[in-house]
Amino acid sequence: MCTYFGFEDRIFMQHISRKRFLKGLVAGTAGLALTGCTARESTTGKDTPGILAGKTYRWNMVTTWPPNFPVLGEGCNLFADWVSQMSGGQLTIKVYGGGELIPALEAFDAVSSGTAEIASGASYYWAGKNAALQFFASFPFGLNAQQMNAWLYSAGGQELWEEVYAPFNIQPFPGGNTGVQMAGWFNRDIETAEDLKGLKMRIPGLGGKVLKEAGGTVILSPGGEIYTNLERGVIDAAEWIGPYHDYKMGFHQIARNYYYPGWHEPGSTLEIIMNKLKYDSLPGHLKEVLKTACARLNMWMLSEFEAKNAEYLEIIEQEGNVNIAPLPQPVLEKLKTLAAGIIDDMAEKDPLSKKVFTSIRAFKKRMRPWGRMTEESFYLKM
Ligand code: CA
Repeated sequence: MCTYFGFEDRIFMQHISRKRFLKGLVAGTAGLALTGCTARESTTGKDTPGILAGKTYRWNMVTTWPPNFPVLGEGCNLFADWVSQMSGGQLTIKVYGGGELIPALEAFDAVSSGTAEIASGASYYWAGKNAALQFFASFPFGLNAQQMNAWLYSAGGQELWEEVYAPFNIQPFPGGNTGVQMAGWFNRDIETAEDLKGLKMRIPGLGGKVLKEAGGTVILSPGGEIYTNLERGVIDAAEWIGPYHDYKMGFHQIARNYYYPGWHEPGSTLEIIMNKLKYDSLPGHLKEVLKTACARLNMWMLSEFEAKNAEYLEIIEQEGNVNIAPLPQPVLEKLKTLAAGIIDDMAEKDPLSKKVFTSIRAFKKRMRPWGRMTEESFYLKM
């Protein structure tokens, strides 16, 4: 069973999916009839002139997002289109939203076993498979999107990711990033670390563990119930993603404070995972098509999050009903100290987690002076 490490809440995903379940089931069943449960290969090549290798490949993509979910699901649809276009139709991918072909959180097992060839998700959903996997998504006071990309593409992260996934027969690639998230919506004023004591908050994963350590109470509920819980005072606070998705959830209507930054998820990397045997059996040029589409998706999603979050932050500010404020530095310092202890303990528990965390920690340390000299000093003048 996976643990909660999501910037989206998997039960919410299932909740949303449920509304479309029957419709999706019909679509999924039709899809099965049309394509078969697993990929089919044909050797005619007659429909794909100009492609030297005659085989065509039809893959099924399962996702952990509801169908067409803003940015995340939309990106998967674009990804499939790009792959089809770039391969001249030699490789086509049919995208299924969470719950359409299989439940959202069965994507890992489906890809591992080859039931589905490819999936979109986030590595921290699979922390129950190997704790080290959450480092490839996001962790409290970890890396931002730019730094995650630098570590994965250019500083050994990708190789470690492949090492952790290898026993599961999975080939991972970065396939999106949320950017820095928001700390969340609070109906309590947070002025000192003392104010975290007794705070009832929806905050999953490692962030939740940190809040608990700070004296708070973590209350996880289906995503569709967060609004009601916050409105009725069942919870005092909730984090979700950023202004765009948060606004769509309506939190601005019922919360007093919108705090930043999202210390718990500073740059959540989304992933495209593929069945490694299926991936390895592709001709070289189709592997390049997939890698290129993943890189484009990675850039597209971050760009969408950045542009839409800025737009909706402006809307929330203009509406003027919410106090948008930074968490006080002493509060962040306290959370940071607690997070370091929790993550150190976690990394000590198994050798692979230790190996990955050693790499990411060393990278973060090296990035700090460079980032302060460049990004931070630039932003201060922006
Ligand atoms: Ca989140």
